[in-house]
Amino acid sequence: GDPDVHASRSAQLFERADLVIPGGVNSPVRAFHSVGGTPRFIREASGYTLTDVDGNDYVDLICSWGPMILGHAHPAVVEAVQKAAATGLSFGAPTEGEIELAEEIVGRVAPVEKVRLVNSGTEATMSAVRLARGFTGRTKVLKFSGCYHGHVDALLADAGSGLATFGLPTSPGVTGAQAEDTIVVPYNDLDAVAQAFAANEGQIACVITEAAAGNMGAVAPMPGFNEGLRKLTSDNGALLIMDEVMTGFRVSSAGWFGLDRVAGDLYTFGKVMSGGLPAAAFGGRADVMAHLAPAGPVYQAGTLSGNPVAVAAGLASLRAADQGVYDALERNSATLRTLLSDALTAESVPHRVQTAGTMLSVFFSEDPVTNYAEAKAAQTWRFPAFFHGLLSRGVYPPPSAFEAWFVSAAMDDRAFSIIADALPHAAKAAAAA
Ligand code: PMP
Repeated sequence: GDPDVHASRSAQLFERADLVIPGGVNSPVRAFHSVGGTPRFIREASGYTLTDVDGNDYVDLICSWGPMILGHAHPAVVEAVQKAAATGLSFGAPTEGEIELAEEIVGRVAPVEKVRLVNSGTEATMSAVRLARGFTGRTKVLKFSGCYHGHVDALLADAGSGLATFGLPTSPGVTGAQAEDTIVVPYNDLDAVAQAFAANEGQIACVITEAAAGNMGAVAPMPGFNEGLRKLTSDNGALLIMDEVMTGFRVSSAGWFGLDRVAGDLYTFGKVMSGGLPAAAFGGRADVMAHLAPAGPVYQAGTLSGNPVAVAAGLASLRAADQGVYDALERNSATLRTLLSDALTAESVPHRVQTAGTMLSVFFSEDPVTNYAEAKAAQTWRFPAFFHGLLSRGVYPPPSAFEAWFVSAAMDDRAFSIIADALPHAAKAAAAA
């Protein structure tokens, strides 16, 4: 049937949005470009349920692209936000809450001794790279194909996520000089990293990596990969930036660091630590962070950085994320993985449900996916049919074959029975695609 049959109000809003907003959305993947159909405009959300403007309910498997590990409108977070909002929205002067959020992050991730709050993951990685350049006095940055670190000019090359969805190698508007200072090598390939260091001796300021890749779909680092990056960067006088914007405080209370204990020099965070409001952070070694203004010469600033309402949301979320929440995320991710795999197996659809901690992705591939080239080689044409098979039956997966799926701790038996009922239809559609 027509997957968009119940989306007339969303369709009207999308047309209206397109008149005043480029492509009708404020972040590209929301436009359903690679899956087709009408993007759903959301009216409200609670727990694991998104409700659109036509009154359809969906089990949310995006969770705002990661932040909502507790589910939507969690009472403790909403209360903290309301309380903070009632006492002033922004001061442009320091507050005690900022210290508490910084202490919460420093207390969880051992290699992070100092932390600066910013407003988005993009700002966090942009600032971390500038700091790495300022600290080392070097210009080049090494990143991995298929890793996304936000829309920072220097980091947009071969960047997975939305660019993968839209088939862009990089973006017009990024200058040759910026691209020239960025070295891109395949993920999970330590030899390529070693060769890059040899070919650019004394010039590489930092290696930036997703602590576990989530932006080409979920692709975990192979055993020894992060350790190898640690050694190669140390041996060559470069800094290692662990981008934990997606993994941070989701895959464990200490993020990916909590799982593999490989220490980066600098870290970036966002999503979960924001509680769903605009907040992010970068931090790391105290001696490196000491180079940041006003303590040091590397400039970085923000009118709304450490915003009291965003800080309250982030703090309430992290404080509510106890071991019970992480246990629930583990359970729910494992249950979803089994349901997905059983349904696709029943229809003989070639697939791998890959995990990176509790993040997961469906690849329509017989072979494991370890890098971006392998992710792109999967049978991605099956994805739109699979996506709409789920969406039209009340399950909302990410609208791209190159994105991670996110569970929340709010999911219960009812959520999984909705998913279990929808999956056979979606798997049949994927098989027929
Ligand atoms: N780094 C990673 C690993 C991300 O997943 C993202 C966003 N998906 C970013 C950076 C950029 O964060 P933001 O969208 O908040 O700018």
